[in-house]
Amino acid sequence: MIPPIADRFVAGESPAEALDHVRQLNGQHVKAIVNLLGEHYDDRSSVRADAAAYRALVGDISKSGLDACLSVKPSQLGLDLGEDVFREELAAVVDAAADHDVFVWIDMEDHTTTDATLDAFEALAREYGDDDQYRVGVCVQANLRRTRDDVERLADVPGKVRFVKGAYDEPAAVAYQQSARVDQEYKSLLEYVFERYDGGIGVGSHDPAMIDHAIALHDEHGTDFEIQMLMGVRETAQFDLAESYPVYQYVPFGDRWKSYFYRRMTERKENLRFGLRAILGR
Ligand code: FAD
Repeated sequence: MIPPIADRFVAGESPAEALDHVRQLNGQHVKAIVNLLGEHYDDRSSVRADAAAYRALVGDISKSGLDACLSVKPSQLGLDLGEDVFREELAAVVDAAADHDVFVWIDMEDHTTTDATLDAFEALAREYGDDDQYRVGVCVQANLRRTRDDVERLADVPGKVRFVKGAYDEPAAVAYQQSARVDQEYKSLLEYVFERYDGGIGVGSHDPAMIDHAIALHDEHGTDFEIQMLMGVRETAQFDLAESYPVYQYVPFGDRWKSYFYRRMTERKENLRFGLRAILGR
């Protein structure tokens, strides 16, 4: 069982607990992006186990009638073992998901994985999607200098693109180092895609300035978009925004929750304060 405090950020250890959480979200008009926690596997059996768990999960989502999709990590599906392993396992997950009409997001990891991740995304988006129905999405990071070119390359790919600031500590040769520069780039990327993309834009940010900018661009260009935030972060805003826009909550679950929870607690003062208050009972 996930202990109190951690259960604000992680939906449970089992798929059933995760789907219970999704049911509550859907009741408040928020959709879900479900992620089984796991990354950087160096053995094929862990990769196979998580890929099988995702294939089972799409069946559960479809049977339950819940409004939920998946997000998978490349290194969870074998990228550390080789690009061929990753592509094979990812294709099997996307194939099962498409059978059950469940959408699949691919998270983006550090910059050494960007090419392999975008190549796999593009191939599957073209194979499974078309202009009327996107089946796959990928995340891009505003802190990477290359992202502007990537976003141009992805413009005619029939899939969704999630924009985030970037969670990995990257070298200056490949990434902007100042948060103000990353914010500026994020806004500028949104301007580019709201003007040129046909839709399928995911705004993966808790930052009110980024979300307001996306809403203003949507009002100006009419381009479809969705707001995506993490479980446990600015949930009141998620429920408020869901009254006017599509909002997805990223819902992690699984027994490998400790390192994810540790990251959430240490990345921001607000989260740490929440944790300490809960521990001290105040
Ligand atoms: P920040 O720059 O961290 O904060 C800006 C402002 O947002 C703050 O000043 C505050 O007003 C508000 N805010 C932020 N956090 C909080 C909080 N905890 N409580 C209250 N207010 C807050 N990164 C990747 O590299 N790859 C991925 O695949 C990926 N997927 C993601 C999917 C989703 C749905 C989300 C939401 C994020 C994802 N990220 C991913 C993480 C992302 O790159 C950022 O590290 C993370 O979202 C922090 O940036 P931010 O835009 O939310 O705001």
